[in-house]
Amino acid sequence: MIIQTITTGSTLVSSATPDRSTRRWKYAYTGLFQRRSKRIEVPVKCYYVKVSCHSVLIDTGWSKEVVEHGLRHLGFGLWFASEPVMKHGESAKEQLTGQPIDAILMTHLDCDHVSGLYDFDGMEVYTSRAEFDYSAKKRLRYGKLVKGREYRFLDFKPDDKAPFGQSCDLFGDGSILAYLTPTHSAGSVIYRISDADRFALIVGDNGYMKDSWRKGLLPGPLYNADNMRRCLSWLKEQEQQPDCLGIYCAHDRNFARR
Ligand SMILES: [Zn+2]
Repeated sequence: MIIQTITTGSTLVSSATPDRSTRRWKYAYTGLFQRRSKRIEVPVKCYYVKVSCHSVLIDTGWSKEVVEHGLRHLGFGLWFASEPVMKHGESAKEQLTGQPIDAILMTHLDCDHVSGLYDFDGMEVYTSRAEFDYSAKKRLRYGKLVKGREYRFLDFKPDDKAPFGQSCDLFGDGSILAYLTPTHSAGSVIYRISDADRFALIVGDNGYMKDSWRKGLLPGPLYNADNMRRCLSWLKEQEQQPDCLGIYCAHDRNFARR
């Protein structure tokens, strides 16, 4: 298996976004009432995966649109809460020139994951029905970026080994399993990539950074705090498995290119 990390610039967020214990107010992660100089810069990553005979892009990071027109592309609310920082040539589309992609798999539909979809036309894009329905209800959080795209829904089945009891075997050969995880958002998904002897997990914002599961730090935006705690403990256990190649999240600063 090959997992290629694609860093599509970064985002300026409240310190409470990766770790909610840094601020007392429950909604501090929105950045309201916090000076811009106090924001922190975190990378925005997505992953290009080759396993068995499949090539997929998991999440899409920032679109190339944000380089010149961030405010227009996102709308003021999303731009304010997660201001994009990106240079020309850093979008996933620009970095993946010529590489085949069978499908795009979304961990969830927040703007820093879904924005890059605008650079990919005619691709099959998978998400969970729960995430799509939730995004339709929570326009303040998801903004306008989710609208106007066609999605395919992951077909979840009961699975004792899945952290919340449901998985979808994407290609029917066990190489990519999707786990439904109602944690960061109602329909967040973790992807388990495996070949004959190793596996990796691509977790989106289920764990904002490695310390989220290693030290049990709760991120700011949460759909269900108890589920997130449960998921972080599960990730910690998975990381200790001898055949675990790694756990890949979207915003860990230690792995930032910049
Ligand atoms: Zn994110």
